[in-house]
Amino acid sequence: MHRPGELRERVLEFDVPEQLGESVVAVTQGSPIRIGLRLEGLHDGVLVTGEVDATADGECVRCLDPVELPVEVEFQELFAYSEDEAFDFAIRDDHVNLESVVRDAVVLALPFQPVCRPDCPGLDPVTGEKLASGTDRRASEGTDPRWAALEGFRPDTE
Ligand SMILES: [Zn+2]
Repeated sequence: MHRPGELRERVLEFDVPEQLGESVVAVTQGSPIRIGLRLEGLHDGVLVTGEVDATADGECVRCLDPVELPVEVEFQELFAYSEDEAFDFAIRDDHVNLESVVRDAVVLALPFQPVCRPDCPGLDPVTGEKLASGTDRRASEGTDPRWAALEGFRPDTE
């Protein structure tokens, strides 16, 4: 506090007390989170730089399998000594409260459409069965009539 140039580094590891994220994928309550912090004294406040590591759980939007996604996100905020409106965050009672900063950083890093893997083929539109990688879609019953003209077509793979 009030020591420009002073630098402190901290690592916080704890279990998430409250779920982060509301959508199909979220960092669930009780899962571990690790935050590496760098606190730098400036003239008008403390600059906080952080790296968050956590794991989000959700469902693949294509095949509905559970997915676990690593969340790695960085943030940087200035916590001002004064409560001047020019600053978004202020130091209160000698503390910086990082809860909303960490929450926003994590939630913004979560994908809107999580997939178990980039080429997940998803579910068969006819049977609802999960398509295995490389599944020949023609093997399923009821070929889409719009593609029927291609039925006899075989690319010359030689
Ligand atoms: Zn999937």
